[in-house]
Amino acid sequence: MQDKETAIELTAFLQQTKTAQTAVLLLDYDGTLAPFHVDRNLAYPYPGVISILERIVQSDKTRVIIISGRPIAELRTLLGSISNLEIWGSHGLEHQLSDGSYSRVQVSEENAESLAEAEEWVVARGLLSSAEIKPGGIAIHWRGMSPAEAARVQALTQRDWAALAERSGLKLLQFEAGLELRVSHPDKGDAVRSILAGLDSNVPTAYLGDDLTDEDAFHSLNGHGLSVLVKADYRETIAKAWIKPPLGLIEFLERWLNSVSG
Ligand SMILES: [Mg+2]
Repeated sequence: MQDKETAIELTAFLQQTKTAQTAVLLLDYDGTLAPFHVDRNLAYPYPGVISILERIVQSDKTRVIIISGRPIAELRTLLGSISNLEIWGSHGLEHQLSDGSYSRVQVSEENAESLAEAEEWVVARGLLSSAEIKPGGIAIHWRGMSPAEAARVQALTQRDWAALAERSGLKLLQFEAGLELRVSHPDKGDAVRSILAGLDSNVPTAYLGDDLTDEDAFHSLNGHGLSVLVKADYRETIAKAWIKPPLGLIEFLERWLNSVSG
């Protein structure tokens, strides 16, 4: 994808937000708003992101929605001071509106049993300290391990969890420095479809994400809004535009704020 294509897409989209009564900004968290960190509890947003998002929310012309694989509780901590934020957590399994009301999709008994089996596997392999148990899923993280240890853990997890996914109907997701075994739905694409279903078709909507799980969201949005890959190095994507964090991200958010502020 060329810079020129991105520039054309962004300018055309932001032009729509200028005249629209309201716009919707959908944002992945890790790798998009925040750099990766060895300790994922310390993966705070890039400098400047919080204040721009606060101003965008306060402009009252944009509904800002976070859509992340993380549980909502973690996102609330990392995004601290921003109020009136709507969040879809755990890949869309959890949902909290800006007024604080919360709902969560129930995991089937069958899936819960398979996830419990994966948890037992983690304990038996001595990997509990590298594991993250979350609503509808379980993840193994190897960021911070030595390259040899990371390769060993990755190979072991890939082998055994792929087999478990195969017979259980759970899905295995690869993400930056980790693997996650989780319920196949909802995913981020389902979350975006739910959001779009509640919007007039002329509301400008954009989604920014970095990961393979964001491709589901791009897919749901394409034809209805602007999909943006946020990544330092380009990879194959169905997103319509590509920006590099943090500078390209900050610039995009500033342009958004200027557009909706008139
Ligand atoms: Mg991400």
